[in-house]
Amino acid sequence: MPNLLDFDLDGLTDWFATLGEKPFRARQVMRWIHREGCDDFAAMTDVAKVLRAKLAERAEIRPPALLRDSVSRDGTRKWLFDVGGGNAVESVFIPEAGRGTLCVSSQAGCALDCAFCATGKQGFNRNLSVGEIVGQLWLANKLLGAAGGHAGDEVDKDNGRVISNVVMMGMGEPLANFDNVVTALRVMLDDHAYGLSRRRVTVSTAGIVPGIDRLREECPVALAVSLHAPDDALRDRLVPLNRKYPLRDLMAACRRYLDRAPRDFVTFEYVMLDGVNDAIAHARALVALTRDVPCKFNLIPFNPFPHSALGRSPAERIRRFAEILLEAGIVTTTRKTRGEDVAAACGQLAGQVKDKTRRTQARPRQTMEETRT
Ligand code: SAH
Repeated sequence: MPNLLDFDLDGLTDWFATLGEKPFRARQVMRWIHREGCDDFAAMTDVAKVLRAKLAERAEIRPPALLRDSVSRDGTRKWLFDVGGGNAVESVFIPEAGRGTLCVSSQAGCALDCAFCATGKQGFNRNLSVGEIVGQLWLANKLLGAAGGHAGDEVDKDNGRVISNVVMMGMGEPLANFDNVVTALRVMLDDHAYGLSRRRVTVSTAGIVPGIDRLREECPVALAVSLHAPDDALRDRLVPLNRKYPLRDLMAACRRYLDRAPRDFVTFEYVMLDGVNDAIAHARALVALTRDVPCKFNLIPFNPFPHSALGRSPAERIRRFAEILLEAGIVTTTRKTRGEDVAAACGQLAGQVKDKTRRTQARPRQTMEETRT
């Protein structure tokens, strides 16, 4: 039975056509599901009764089940969602003055194994379906009391939404689950669904070059690239994917992206690792590396997790590092660590993953229980 959370408007329209239903019916149902947060066909009062009955028989609206809801002292909220088969993924809601950002997962686990990331250490199980990706937003909206468009105004003055921004920065590598992520992005952008602006939806990638090019063609949204090192030797170690797509190719892909992107810069994320990538020389090398790429830098103080064996750069060193980028004319911000007390900070999302890659077995010291948050 189809789960209607799996469809963007085109997909829903096509499926409605197989039922002999007109496109405007698909638009109506799309609005009920996503704007109103409705999962009961009987309640879709402006939809013809016969169609409501038909839908109730042949379709479902099924988000992932909520396993845990944690609230940080700073107001950050983390949800653990069951996606079946012993896998669970996390989403994080970060409230800030004037905006609310939802950080969404794209995979159960991650195959990339970056040296500093808790998700990677858990190994990889599978891609999330469209419904599981969109379902995180659908549920978050409901849990925040925002579905139906009643609660937003005091939270986001700009567009009256509690969740005004989505970042694909949760568990997984979004461009490794390309088709499902793009369909989910279309739902986020659709005016009949969440109606988010392209500038407020960000895909973050560790640097899958062909994926960046496809995203540019198929669904350009704001782009963040997890850079973390200014040269290939160091980046090969920190982000093993770099061996496949080295910095030269990555920078060229970023430049190509910008002629279609909704914003005129790429955001480079850079995790600050004590004594590893945080020297003055690294900052100078970054300035040279990104000379031809209009960009902003977002420095992320490393967030520790069990057995990570890496440390966070001291605040003073991060400040000096930022200063060098700023002096070169690059807008640079340092990410405020949010939700650390509930392990909701960048790189700490671990959910539960039935590892298929056997990575966890290769590291006997690290048990599932220890990596869980
Ligand atoms: N796979 C995508 C999406 C993950 S985004 C990507 O790599 O971009 C999560 C961001 O947090 C990435 O920039 C990632 O590099 C960063 N990150 C991972 N582990 C971290 C840690 N322990 N401390 C701080 N940032 C971390």
